[in-house]
Amino acid sequence: MQRHKSLEKAFFGSDISEKLDFFGLLIEILANQFSCDGVSFFEYNQQERFLEMRLHYRRGITFEDEESLFVEHLPHLQKALYEKEPQSVKIFGTYFLYVPFTVRSCRMEEEENEDKTAFIRLERQEKAKAFSKTEIKRIREKIGDFLRNFYQTEFLSLNKKYVQNLYVIKNLSEIFARSLRVRESFNHILKGLQRHFGFDRIRLYLVEEKLNKLQGVLSVDILGKVKSLEFEQIPLEKNSHRLADIILERRLQPFFDKHTQKVLYVPLVVQSEIIGLMIVDNMLSQQDIEETEFAMLKAFAGQIALVVDNVQLFEKIEELSLYDELTNLPLRRYFHERFQEEMYRADRFSQPMAVVWGDIDYFKQINDNYGHQVGDRALKEVSRVIMANLRKIDFPCRYGGDEVLIMLPQASGNDALKFVERLIEEIKEIRIEVPFSRYKYITLSMSFGIATFPQDATTAEDLLQKADDALYWVKSRNRGQVTLYSDIKTQKERGQS
Ligand code: GH3
Ligand code: MG
Repeated sequence: MQRHKSLEKAFFGSDISEKLDFFGLLIEILANQFSCDGVSFFEYNQQERFLEMRLHYRRGITFEDEESLFVEHLPHLQKALYEKEPQSVKIFGTYFLYVPFTVRSCRMEEEENEDKTAFIRLERQEKAKAFSKTEIKRIREKIGDFLRNFYQTEFLSLNKKYVQNLYVIKNLSEIFARSLRVRESFNHILKGLQRHFGFDRIRLYLVEEKLNKLQGVLSVDILGKVKSLEFEQIPLEKNSHRLADIILERRLQPFFDKHTQKVLYVPLVVQSEIIGLMIVDNMLSQQDIEETEFAMLKAFAGQIALVVDNVQLFEKIEELSLYDELTNLPLRRYFHERFQEEMYRADRFSQPMAVVWGDIDYFKQINDNYGHQVGDRALKEVSRVIMANLRKIDFPCRYGGDEVLIMLPQASGNDALKFVERLIEEIKEIRIEVPFSRYKYITLSMSFGIATFPQDATTAEDLLQKADDALYWVKSRNRGQVTLYSDIKTQKERGQS
């Protein structure tokens, strides 16, 4: 009676003690059904290579007990681990059957979380019979069934927890924070689902309304392998393709294939619009998809659709916001991407590269004295001058506020210096009209620091830091000028700092 309670508890919770309850129930059932004198549950510690007993059932009671079995000394355990097959041994008149199995990690957020190996050990005294082949088979099936329940339990608790705690937002904010590529986000979702349910395969297609097609995205198989389905493009025309028909017929609910319960179609619907289609199947193992799995996927379909939709939206936003609206200069994120590529190229082909960090002088005062609009015009003008002086291979960005970063591939420190000196001259020529002031216009000045690859630094991060150091040097001495990082270094070394 007490056990039933804990099963119920295990279905709605998933902390360690509840997991143990679950395995406690399993060993109890095994002991009764297979007439054992004792059954134990062990966790395998892979690093230290020993089995650690967690639960032991004997004479009608399950309790937590201690016993460690070092694999080194026990050939039958080595064999069980290696072959992943049950092994029986007879020791001092007792028959032992060791059954290894894998407990898969069920947590979506713990991508690296490894699957764990566990063991169930069944014991029978000498007067009883050894474990027969049929019994061993039935014991394994029983454990398999239990594990399936275990995963579903875990998933139910996840479902409850995550849906209620805004799982979507949590996961998305993680995706956003790590600024994963879209493909990786989908990858993450499909892999998570595959792990929870253990389907043979999950495929994802997205509706591309503008192009009037269903575009294949990804497929994840039973081993968690991800394949691209990019080559699968299905025109959204009636009777052209089974999948196209599902979209065109506006089937909004998950449903099984007409002919088999081994394929399940899950339309992804956001605000009554189908944005994609997820297809799960067990074609390889030929196992029917269970009703409980169907029910859970149905419950989850809306959440999945929302995640997919948001990821797509994020991609669109990202595409739109590569450039700064005010200055038309690329944004920092775009710059970083290009910068990494250029660093790699410079290194690969042993070419120099310079990075220039610029910052408008006393910009805050311009804002304060003449207003933000004048400040904005100053930013625009400076950017225009910079753009006009760039070679095709150079790449600038508005780093933020009044700071500009420019990378000059294949440029030495001297090349960069000449380029910046020209900029400084042209920036001095800028005139920004200021109405309602006793001055007709204001002029601008800007300070710059330069660092070069490979002399000053060999990593992207370091190179930017050095350029920033050089800029800081100028700012703290004489604005409206430029310096090379290598020059301040020599000055520092000469003790002139
Ligand atoms: P310094 O010579 O030391 O660089 O002094 P500064 O006044 O330029 O100081 P700082 O770089 O910290 O000031 C940058 C200012 O730029 C602060 C912020 O209010 C202003 N700013 C940032 N973005 C914008 C923008 O888009 N438009 C306008 N008008 N001002 C901006
Ligand atoms: Mg400034």
